[in-house]
Amino acid sequence: MGLIVQKFGGTSVADTDRLRNVAKIITDTYKAGNQVVAVLSAQGDTTDDLIAMAGKVNPNASNREMDMLLSTGEQISVSLCAMAIEALGCPVISLTGWQAGMFTNTVSRNARIKRVDTERIEAELNQRKIVIVTGFQGINRNQDITTLGRGGSDTSAVALAAALDAELCQIYTDVDGVYTADPRTVKGARKLDEVTYNEMLELATLGARVLHNRSVEMAKKYNVRLEVLSSFTGHPGTKVKGVVKRMEKSYISSVAKDKNISRIALIGVPNEIGTSFKVFSLLAQNHINVDIILQGIGHEEGKDICFTVAESDLLRAAGLLEDHRDEIRYARLETNTEIAKVSVVGAGMINNPGVAATLFEALYDANININMISTSEIKISVLVDKKDADKAVQVIHDKFFSIG
Ligand code: ASP
Ligand code: MG
Repeated sequence: MGLIVQKFGGTSVADTDRLRNVAKIITDTYKAGNQVVAVLSAQGDTTDDLIAMAGKVNPNASNREMDMLLSTGEQISVSLCAMAIEALGCPVISLTGWQAGMFTNTVSRNARIKRVDTERIEAELNQRKIVIVTGFQGINRNQDITTLGRGGSDTSAVALAAALDAELCQIYTDVDGVYTADPRTVKGARKLDEVTYNEMLELATLGARVLHNRSVEMAKKYNVRLEVLSSFTGHPGTKVKGVVKRMEKSYISSVAKDKNISRIALIGVPNEIGTSFKVFSLLAQNHINVDIILQGIGHEEGKDICFTVAESDLLRAAGLLEDHRDEIRYARLETNTEIAKVSVVGAGMINNPGVAATLFEALYDANININMISTSEIKISVLVDKKDADKAVQVIHDKFFSIG
């Protein structure tokens, strides 16, 4: 018995049957004696459709009007869901972001939640009502509707869970939880019972699109217990929390890959102070994210700087560097799109020095060449040829997770 926040993503509420299924999950939780606040996304592709619709009217529409439009998707879901719950005979009320007291800053289309006034929600809960709240939206100090950025409903749910001091925040989605690797492509991938906030943050950044990054940051900050689970199967999901017990023989939780990256090499830049600063401040000013960086030891002819960017940023990054060639003074610029990043993530590697060696051994045994390496406290990433990426993930996964 306690307060549970349940968030349902777009696929979980995509049509009438699925909405009824969600209404059933919510009312079952309620009938078990819990207070329930549910946060819903827009149905299926609604948000994409609304963006396309706006584009036809005015491709340069203001962000304020876009937020006015995009917030309607969630309003459809919550009202329909409340109706489905009414039909099941439970007391319920749906609320928009502003009715629910979700106050944000004024950055339209990418607003941050500043505070949640829980008075209204609490009043409804005290009347034993189920409360259904629109995800992804809030209101700013000018009383304009704002949205939180794509995928932002996860963040709405975590913010509410934190503000209401909920016992648990369940994120219902179309996958069963977090896996040791992508179960669609990696043999032997298993669901994890638990991961830490830090592991989840790394995995979110690595492209395991289970949770909105900001929602995990917020959950970590306010110590909100999260559970990622499927609205379709009814199986227990993956818990995300501060500290986890890991029974595995290995100290990693997951192997991930990212094929949508490219490498840029600046060959023969002057071996003098400030070169890296010039290169990376230029890219940063133009909002280009740089990932793995490698700088060789300088010698008389100069030094080489290699780094990776998202494939979608490659042309822009290379163009910028060419435009500033006179300033940076490199001899040659080379790009490579036939590469992929493979990473292992695990909170346990901080205290276990063998992880990198084990990873390299797996790749050596499979005859896979490593182009670049980068490490953090809980992650090791290697750059391999794109053609080797799937095999690399499989052999690394086998090495760390094979039973026996
Ligand atoms: N409906 C919004 C989107 O599609 C928010 C969300 O689903 O979390 O991005
Ligand atoms: Mg989502």
